[in-house]
Amino acid sequence: MQKTLILLKPDCVQKGYIGEVIARMEKKGLKVVAMKMMEMTDDVIKNHYGHLADKPFFPEIVAYMTMCPIVAMIVEGDDSIETMRNMCGATNPLEAAVGTIRGDLALTIRYNVIHASDSEESAAAEVARFFDASEVYSYAKINDSVL
Ligand code: ADP
Repeated sequence: MQKTLILLKPDCVQKGYIGEVIARMEKKGLKVVAMKMMEMTDDVIKNHYGHLADKPFFPEIVAYMTMCPIVAMIVEGDDSIETMRNMCGATNPLEAAVGTIRGDLALTIRYNVIHASDSEESAAAEVARFFDASEVYSYAKINDSVL
């Protein structure tokens, strides 16, 4: 079963879309196996967005990600990485298809609601960046067990 790292970014929290986004993931059939509210530190932002550190908009990312707490989650399911990237839609909400999270809930690239790992390598690194092993749970869904 594949795990992926999801961040509900500050605009998601401030606009009251935490439940909406989690509901979409649950309806899709993905399983939440870790979740916490936390503040992003400068160090975590530098690691997480290191590939964008040279971009002129990097200070905007730091300001954005520290506006208020985020919700970090690990979701699990078959092909969860690709599934979540498809559900998020394009990075720029202007280009994200209607029906996707960014296409429906975001307007500009600066505030695009959600992060989802983009590869198996990223997912492994990002899961370890945000969660200790003791914070990650393993459980059966009620429909998984024959009663
Ligand atoms: P994704 O989040 O879809 O994996 P990237 O890794 O390219 O995309 O970008 C990471 C984040 O940086 C974006 O989700 C967005 O919050 C921010 N970002 C990317 N490009 C811009 C931009 N041109 N202006 C402002 N913020 C940006």
